Amino acid sequence: MKKTVLITGAAGFLGSHLCDRFIAEGYKVIGMDNFITGDQKNLKHLDHEAQFNFINHDVTEHITIEEDIHYILHFASPASPIDYLKIPIQTLKVGSLGTHNLLGLAKAKNARILIASTSEIYGDPLVHPQTEEYYGNVNTIGPRGVYDEAKRFQESITMAYNTFHGLETRIVRIFNTYGPRMRLNDGRVIPAFMGQALRGEDLTVFGDGSQTRSFCYVTDQVEGIYRLLLSDYELPVNIGNPHEISIRDFAEEIIKLTGTTQKVIYKDLPVNDPMQRQPNIDKAKSILGWEPKVDRAEGMKKTFDYFKSLTQEELYKSEH
Ligand code: NAD
Ligand code: UDP
Repeated sequence: MKKTVLITGAAGFLGSHLCDRFIAEGYKVIGMDNFITGDQKNLKHLDHEAQFNFINHDVTEHITIEEDIHYILHFASPASPIDYLKIPIQTLKVGSLGTHNLLGLAKAKNARILIASTSEIYGDPLVHPQTEEYYGNVNTIGPRGVYDEAKRFQESITMAYNTFHGLETRIVRIFNTYGPRMRLNDGRVIPAFMGQALRGEDLTVFGDGSQTRSFCYVTDQVEGIYRLLLSDYELPVNIGNPHEISIRDFAEEIIKLTGTTQKVIYKDLPVNDPMQRQPNIDKAKSILGWEPKVDRAEGMKKTFDYFKSLTQEELYKSEH
């Protein structure tokens, strides 16, 4: 019998790629989303896929599913700083009430659940690179706190279901991941720079651009998540690409890649924007036998090809 996996946030960037991966592996996939930051277009190619069903539902409301479910991947949540600043209460609710609903569903179905946590739980880290043992440095009442604390609560309630109810749980701490199907106007740095290059606008670097990030291509991320779900490991695991770069140097890379004749301009650094971020992936390597395979040049080229294929209307749409 084919196993069934429920994927929340299925119409989003990562969720839609996970749907593809699980269908390719022979699973029956139920996608769930309320489209608050997602897009139907990301699932269009699955319209006639017999192994795929979609439920339009807000996971913060009670979830009823009749059929058996073997695995749950909880990926529903706004994920970009401008999204969670625009909808802070929904962000807190999907990480808390939404996660509670999905843990309850997993318990009722005796399913294994993997929840999407984030490098943001480390806040503006004082330990570098970040290991899973680091507790983090988060400003609870800062603008990013709604996302960071929702995800921290999500980890806590997940571990409580694990220890108190004996539920099979997995926690992935995802570091900045990119690729096709990111929303052009979600404000994250890669769609922002690529959109600016394609529209002939200057590239907006926030602060002096000395802050760093480490970018992981989506297929690598999906492989890590897939392995973690099927592993026996119940504590959090970082999945990301350790190749770190400053945002200023990254803007220069994008200028070269896109061939734009525009320049870099500097804008204010958002409040509590982490100054450095790089995953320590020793656990992923030793426990999952995983490490990233796609280097930034290759991943960025594929991502730029995707953004180049968007229509003019999509390119100039400023609001989601
Ligand atoms: P995304 O915005 O593209 O996808 C999120 C999806 O969740 C959207 O389709 C949205 O409509 C849906 N959603 C939000 N609230 C919902 C609700 N209440 N009910 C049902 N659906 C809801 O973002 P993404 O980059 O694909 O991120 C997916 C997950 O991965 C998130 O949980 C995010 O926190 C986590 N994550 C992503 C990254 C990254 O770099 N992409 C990094 C760390 C963590
Ligand atoms: N950033 C930038 N210009 C932009 C968008 C983002 O310089 O137009 C910076 C942002 O301040 C942060 C980094 O790029 O330091 C990554 O931002 P993103 O929103 O992609 O991810 P996060 O901050 O959540 O890691």
